[in-house]
Amino acid sequence: MQYDEPLFRPPSEAHSLILQATLGCSNNTCLFCGMYKMKKFKVRPFEAFKKDVLECAQYMPGARRIFLADGDALVMSMSHFTKVLRLLYAKFPNLERVTCYANPINLLNKSMGELRQLREEGLDILYLGMESGNDEVLKRIAKGSTRAEILEAGRKALDAGFPLSVTVILGLGGRKLSEAHIRDTASLCSELNPTYLSALTLMLGPLEGYFAKTQGPDFDFLDKLDMLREVRGLVSALETSGTVFRTNHASNYLPLKGVLSRDRAQLLSAIDAALADPDRYLKPEFLRAL
Ligand code: SF4
Repeated sequence: MQYDEPLFRPPSEAHSLILQATLGCSNNTCLFCGMYKMKKFKVRPFEAFKKDVLECAQYMPGARRIFLADGDALVMSMSHFTKVLRLLYAKFPNLERVTCYANPINLLNKSMGELRQLREEGLDILYLGMESGNDEVLKRIAKGSTRAEILEAGRKALDAGFPLSVTVILGLGGRKLSEAHIRDTASLCSELNPTYLSALTLMLGPLEGYFAKTQGPDFDFLDKLDMLREVRGLVSALETSGTVFRTNHASNYLPLKGVLSRDRAQLLSAIDAALADPDRYLKPEFLRAL
């Protein structure tokens, strides 16, 4: 089997078999994201996907977790998606879960009945990029969805029975919108109460110059201590119940993990220790990755 690279997966899918049911991202508008800009989006033909599945089933018959790449496999039609799920559960007898990325648009485009059916067929965690809860930031990054749409999409996933893993991005509003970005992201996450919440840190690599231009002359990037202050603001303001909070993505300077409603004090003291002595606690720049 040959992957159509580049290939991405959430940190928590590090031990999963990755299979490409789609290539690229059906949205592909976000100005901070270069993950799939070089790929033309398509749903792979079922027969090509099946060939990969049969090959992997020979070499990894005991696979327990499968992540469906690329950027938003939830976009697949119901007839195609159910065929994919049935094939996977038939060929991997120990399979426990199949997961994928989802964006607000493809969640809103599916009915509640369709989402419930996919859940019953064995689709498990959905990874949803919220990025920000602030409408101005969402507009400036060309997310293609508003705060209200993200809330509706996320609630729909949770109501359909999916564990929902949400990502937000520190530094996305720059200096000018930092306060609004964190305030509104915390309030949107609190309203949604996702199962998992991960904060990533803005890291643009070769897109940095392009992104800065699209944000206008008043955009000012945050430094690593500002990013840490943003995560502090987020952890302080979130009012979720049972949500697991993580900063375990390779882009982050400080890895954190805890249940917000239980571990807030420990999380804040870890952040404060890092703010007081960043050289000791923060990941050096060369160890960060996209
Ligand atoms: S929807 Fe996700 S994968 Fe697609 S361009 Fe935006 S951030 Fe990237």
